[in-house]
Amino acid sequence: MKKTLIKKIEHVRLVIFDVDGVMTDGRIHYTDQGVEIKSFNVKDGHGIKLLMRAGIEAGIITARQSKTVDVRARDLGITIVAQGRKDKLEAFEEIIKKQGIKPEEAAYVGDDVVDLPVLRRVGFSVAVSDAVDTVKAAVDYVTRKKGGNGAVREVVELILKAQGKWDSVMERYLR
Ligand SMILES: [Mg+2]
Repeated sequence: MKKTLIKKIEHVRLVIFDVDGVMTDGRIHYTDQGVEIKSFNVKDGHGIKLLMRAGIEAGIITARQSKTVDVRARDLGITIVAQGRKDKLEAFEEIIKKQGIKPEEAAYVGDDVVDLPVLRRVGFSVAVSDAVDTVKAAVDYVTRKKGGNGAVREVVELILKAQGKWDSVMERYLR
């Protein structure tokens, strides 16, 4: 891993994920009743749990509003959830203020132009591999995996490895 990348990741205490296109593949299904259905990735979910177990906070900022996101957040134990926030930077500033975290101690993972203001503000910015080109060009790191298909897990492993926490997190599985 590049030293410049490790330097950026070193201080990360909070990782915020966009939902559509990052925690999901970006597709939204609708039932005949107009109910939204999103698909989440189990390996990504476990990754977020590993992250929090290592003492790093996880959060969600999404411009949309859906019950599915609340259910998923509860399932993973994520308490930092900002939904229906068209101005993601404003939501971000509120979160870090409340958590007592500096912008450079935060990481953000996004996929579209609405994520750019936050991506420019954080200490470590990430785009998923199928993000729009403008976003990919603006970040510190582009994942190999796609949104909803392991990108979140990849980011988690990268951060834990760069911070030297990976081995201790894995210990319980290697007994
Ligand atoms: Mg998105």
